[in-house]
Amino acid sequence: MNEPSSAVESTIRRIAVYCGSSNGGRTEYVEQARATGRVLAQRNVGLVYGGGGLGLMGACAAAALEQGGEVIGVIPHSLAGKERLNELVTDLRVVRTMHERKTLMVELADAFLALPGGFGTFDELFEAVTWAQLGIHQKPIGLLNVAGYFDPLLTMVERAIAEGFVQPRYRRLIHTATEIETLLDAFARHEPLPGLVQWLDLSES
Ligand code: AMP
Repeated sequence: MNEPSSAVESTIRRIAVYCGSSNGGRTEYVEQARATGRVLAQRNVGLVYGGGGLGLMGACAAAALEQGGEVIGVIPHSLAGKERLNELVTDLRVVRTMHERKTLMVELADAFLALPGGFGTFDELFEAVTWAQLGIHQKPIGLLNVAGYFDPLLTMVERAIAEGFVQPRYRRLIHTATEIETLLDAFARHEPLPGLVQWLDLSES
């Protein structure tokens, strides 16, 4: 294992990384997925991810493993037979369903990080955000905005706030940066929102 090198390790032992099972169309995506795996391992932060070696997911896990990092793959058994998963992780958790997988990933991780990806990535990211909004967890969430990939999504969040569908105070549930180190620093400074606020507001109106 690598030695701790910054404040982030004191509070965050593992981060769940959500990202594409494809490489996407720009070399920066794979480069930043590899940089993420590398930096997490160098900072002695374990990687929790969806298992498998495809796309950005595989690039991130491979880079973490190369640096001697902890890599926990959480995968439903329906996907588990498709690859030589034990070569990609230091710990493989095979679960029954996609729902069990997402729940276990949330339990294992102290923070969540989304890199570019498709529907699977959006689903995992917004579940983490929704659960934070509901007070189910108080863990930090980050968006690594590689090559402006998430700009339209952030515009949509602003639209939802402007139209009254998202309360402005929840904007800060999503930390955004273009460098993994910046996000890790933001995670170390993260202050949880009080839980269940929205439900209290609804019942009072
Ligand atoms: P997507 O962004 O649609 O490519 O989906 C990627 C996200 O969904 C990852 O963070 C995974 O957790 C999950 N996922 C999608 N496809 C796979 C796969 N073939 N193997 C493992 N996880 C997957």
